[in-house]
Amino acid sequence: MLLTRKSSAGVVPQPRLARNLSGALARTMDRRAFLKRSGVAAGAGAFASQLPFNLIGKAEAQEKQVAENKVEVKRTVCTHCSVGCAVDAVVENGVWVRQEPVFDSPINLGSHCAKGASVREHGMTEHSHRLKYPMKLVNGKYQRLTWDQALDEISKKMLKIREESGPDALFIVGSSKHSNEQSELLCKWVRLWGSNNTDHQARICHSTTVAGVANTWGYGAMTNSYNDEQNSKCILFFGSNAAEAHPVSMLHTLHAKESGAKVIVVDPRFTRTAAKADMYFRTRSGSDVAFLWGMLYHIFKNGWEDKEYIQARVYGMEKVKEEVMKWTPDVVQDVTGLSEQDVRTVAEAMAKNRPSTIVWAMGQTQHTNGNAIVRASCILQLALGNVGVAGGGTNIYRGHDNVQGATDVGPNPDSLPGYYGLAEGSFKHWCRVWNVDFEWLKGRFAPGMMGKPGITVSRWIDGVLEKNDLIDQDPNLRAVFYWGHAPNSQTRGLEMKMAMDKLDLLVVVDPYPSATAAMAAMPKAADAKYEPNPNRDVYLLPAATQFETEGSATASNRSVQWREKVIEPLFESRSDQAIMYAFAQKLGFADQFVGKKDGKQQLRLIKTAKGYEEPNLEDVLTYEINGGSWTIGYTGQSPERLQAHMRNMHVFDVKTLRAKGGKDAKTGYDLTGDYFGLPWPCYGNAALKHPGSPNLYQTSRHVMDGGGNFRANFGVERDGVSLLAADGSASKGADLPFGYPEFDHVLLKKLGWWDELTDAEKKEAEGKNWKTDLSGGIQRVVLKNHGCHPFGNAKARAVVWNFPDAVPLHREPLYSPRPDLVAKFPTHDDVKVLWRLPTLFKSVQDKNVADKVSEKFPLILTSGRLVEYEGGGDETRSNPWLAELQQDNFVEINPKAAADRGIRNNEYVWVKTPTGARLKVKAKVTEGVGPDTVFVPFHFAGWWQGVDMLPWYPEGAAPIVRGEAINTATTYGYDRVTLMQETKTTLCQVERA
Ligand code: SF4
Repeated sequence: MLLTRKSSAGVVPQPRLARNLSGALARTMDRRAFLKRSGVAAGAGAFASQLPFNLIGKAEAQEKQVAENKVEVKRTVCTHCSVGCAVDAVVENGVWVRQEPVFDSPINLGSHCAKGASVREHGMTEHSHRLKYPMKLVNGKYQRLTWDQALDEISKKMLKIREESGPDALFIVGSSKHSNEQSELLCKWVRLWGSNNTDHQARICHSTTVAGVANTWGYGAMTNSYNDEQNSKCILFFGSNAAEAHPVSMLHTLHAKESGAKVIVVDPRFTRTAAKADMYFRTRSGSDVAFLWGMLYHIFKNGWEDKEYIQARVYGMEKVKEEVMKWTPDVVQDVTGLSEQDVRTVAEAMAKNRPSTIVWAMGQTQHTNGNAIVRASCILQLALGNVGVAGGGTNIYRGHDNVQGATDVGPNPDSLPGYYGLAEGSFKHWCRVWNVDFEWLKGRFAPGMMGKPGITVSRWIDGVLEKNDLIDQDPNLRAVFYWGHAPNSQTRGLEMKMAMDKLDLLVVVDPYPSATAAMAAMPKAADAKYEPNPNRDVYLLPAATQFETEGSATASNRSVQWREKVIEPLFESRSDQAIMYAFAQKLGFADQFVGKKDGKQQLRLIKTAKGYEEPNLEDVLTYEINGGSWTIGYTGQSPERLQAHMRNMHVFDVKTLRAKGGKDAKTGYDLTGDYFGLPWPCYGNAALKHPGSPNLYQTSRHVMDGGGNFRANFGVERDGVSLLAADGSASKGADLPFGYPEFDHVLLKKLGWWDELTDAEKKEAEGKNWKTDLSGGIQRVVLKNHGCHPFGNAKARAVVWNFPDAVPLHREPLYSPRPDLVAKFPTHDDVKVLWRLPTLFKSVQDKNVADKVSEKFPLILTSGRLVEYEGGGDETRSNPWLAELQQDNFVEINPKAAADRGIRNNEYVWVKTPTGARLKVKAKVTEGVGPDTVFVPFHFAGWWQGVDMLPWYPEGAAPIVRGEAINTATTYGYDRVTLMQETKTTLCQVERA
C-alpha cells in the first residue's frame, strides 16, 4: 500500500514538524552564525528529511525550548511545478535553517522531488547566485545602483517613450511564478498604464488548452485532480512526461496502477513515465490529431462510445464522426507510425476500463495546431462519457507552481482577471472592483485600443522587428519588462537577441538575472545584419522569491494554497508588489493602484522593515480576487478559509480531497465538507461556504457538494438544434432537471426566485447577471436554494464553430519531415493580423517544401523537461544541490542515427537547425528516441552557439550550470488560435563537434 499517512486520523492542531524540530536544531543562532555554518545545517536538514516519520524524535518535551529559541515553522508550497507540494520551513531567528515535506499534505503526502527538497537554497545567502541589488548595463558591464536611481531612471524613460509613442510601445512579460495576488495586481498595473500588451508563461505552455478546452465545455482547466487518478481504471499519458515534469503526481498514478489501473504512454520518446507504464507506443511528433482520430475510429467502429451520454450532453459528435471515419488504420499508420493493432489496443483499453482519463502537458499544446489536438482529446473523453466523472476527465498538467492562477487572474493580453474579456462592460466591472474611475482608465489607453487583445509573449519580438505598417497598433514595441520570466523558454532565440538589441528600454525584474541579462549584455554577432539601438538602457531589479512574501497559488487541480512568508527578502530584493507600487508612484497611478477614490482606499499599505511600502496581499485576495472573479468561482476562497486549510491538511482525504470533519483550532472554522484548497470554482462569497469543485461538470453531485454540468456559454441554439443539455442530465438535486441558460436578474424574476434575494442583494443584482452581481446574491439563490448552476446547463461542443477548424483537423507542422503529407494535410493560410501581428503559416510551410528543408535537416527536433530543473532553469541551475545532478545539456539520439553520423555517446555534437543556429551539446546515445527523432531538454541557457556567456552575467550571479538553450535554434511557428509557439516539432541535423 503506497499511501499510508491516513492511518493517524484526528485533528492535530500543531503542525507535526513544529513538535519535532528542536532536537535537530542548535540553540539560538543569529544570522551571521548561520552563514558560517549553513553548510552543516543544510546537511542536517537534508538528513532529517530522509528519516522515516517514525524515527523523527519525540516532540512534546521540547516545545518550551522551541519557543525560547524563537524557532518558527512556516508553511509554504514548492515553487517548481504545479503539483503543489507543501513545505514546512524551519526558521530560526529569521534564518531559514531546515525544511521538511509536509506529511499531512493530501497532495504530496510527505514526498518531494529533488527540486522541492532543495527550495531552501533560495533562502541561502552563502554562495548565492541571486541578483543582489539593482544594476544597469554600462559599457557592456552590469554596474550597481540604488533602488531610487533605478526607479527614477526607468520611470523617466517609460514616460518619455509613452509621450513619444503612446502606451502600446511597452510590453510587460509577467510571471507564472507570481502569486495570485501579484498576478492580479500586475494585470491591473498594465491596464492602469493604459495597454493590453502583457502576457505570461501560460501563452507558451497551455494557451491552446485554455482556448480549446474552455470552448468545448466551459472552463479551460484540468477537470479532475492528481489525487482523483486513484479512481481511474486506465490512464493514458499522451503529451506528458509526468515522472520528470510533475514527479510527485506519480504517487497517485502509481497508486492507481497498484490498484489495477492500466497506465499507457504514447509519446515520441520512451520517457521515465513510460518506464513505469504497462504499455508504451511510439508516435511521430506532430501527428497527434491523427492518433486521436485513429483511436476514435476504433471506438466508433466497435460501438464503444457512450451513446446515451453523447445524446444528452454533447453537441456535434456526428459531425466529428464524419471526419474520424476518414482515419482508417492505414492512413493513421502512415501519419503516426502506429500500427492498427497498437492504436486499437489503446482505444480498447480506454473504452473497456472506464472511468479512464487522459493526461497531457506540453506534448499536446506546443504545436501549430495545438488547439485542435487538445480539442480532439476532449472529444475522445466525451465520446467515452468520461468527463464529469471521478477517475475520468482530462487531467491537464500545468507547469509552474502558479501558472494556473496567473492564467485565471493575471496579466493576459485578451482578458481581465477571471477571464472577463476586454469589452467595455468587463472593464466597468473591474473598475468597480478596483475602485477606479472607468472614464479615467479609458483615457489611459490609446484611442480604440482598449478592447483590442494585446501582443502575446510568444511574439513580442515581432512587435519590435515587424514593419510598422504591418502591425495593428501605432508604435512598434520600444520597451519590454521581463518580470519573472525566462527568455530561453521562447522560440527563435537568434531573432530575440536582435529584438533585445533594438529596444530603447529592457528591464528584468527577477530574483535571478536570468538569461535575459546575459543575452542583453552579449555583443551582437559580427556577421549579424542589424544595427543595435545605441540609446538602449538595460536594468536588472532584484525581486524577492515566493518564500520572501506571502500569497496564494493555484495548483494544477485548481486547489488554492496560501503560502506564509518564510523569511524577509534577501539582499536588496523587494517583493513584486512593492516594485509594482513603487513604479505606480513614479508613473502617476499610485492612487488607482491601491483603489483610492471617494474617500475609500481598497488596499492597505504595509511599511516594510526597510522603509518602502507594499500593498497588503490579503486585501488583494479579499477585495479584488474574491471581490470580482465571479465567473470562475475565485470568490469563496477567503484568506481565512485558505489559511485554515493549510493549518489542517491532515483532515483532507487523499483520494477525494474532502474533509470529513474537523475544526480549525485557531479560528473555529468548520472544515467539514470542504475540498482541499477549495478548488475553483468555489462559488458565492465565503459565507456561502461552497466547498470547491474537485471534478468539474460532475452531475452526480449537488452543486453545493462540488457538482456541476457543462456551461451554457455559446448560446442556447445553433442551426435549429438546442445547445442545452437534455432532460434528466442536470446536476443532482437541481430544481431545474433539464438544460437551462445562464442566470441573470431576468431569469430569476421569470422563475419567481427574485424575492429570495435580500433587499441589499436586490439593489446590487438589479440589471446584473451571475458574473457581474457583486453581492453574490444571484449565485447564492441559484446554488443554495435551488441546486442549479449559475452558468446554466448545456451540452459540451464537439464542434467549435468559432474556430478556424470547427472540427479538429490534422495539419502537418510547418517544418514537417514528410513533404508528401504536407500536400494532403497542409497548414492554415497566412493571417494578416492575429493578436496585432501578421502571422505566417502556409508560406513558411510551402517554402520549406520547395527548399527541401527536410532533406537537409532530416531529424525531428523535439524538447521537454528534466526532473532536476524547471522552466528556463535559472533558479534551479543556480541551486548547488540540483546543479550537481545534471551538469551538461545534451541531445538524445538513437544509436542508428548516431552511428550513421559517426557520433559516440557523451561526445560533443552540433545540433543545427534551418534558422542557421547551432547548439553545442553532448550526445546521449539512446534507444529512448527513434532513428528519426532527437530530443533536447529546454532548461538550459548560458551558452550561445558554443560560447560560454559567463562574461555577460553580473559578477557572481551567473547560474552554476550553463548550457545551450534549445530555443536559440528553434523555428517559426504558432497556433492558429492562440499563437502558442511550436517547440515540439521542428527539424535539425546533428554533426560531430
Ligand atoms: Fe512537488 Fe513539483 Fe515541487 Fe517536485 S517540483 S516537490 S513535484 S511541487
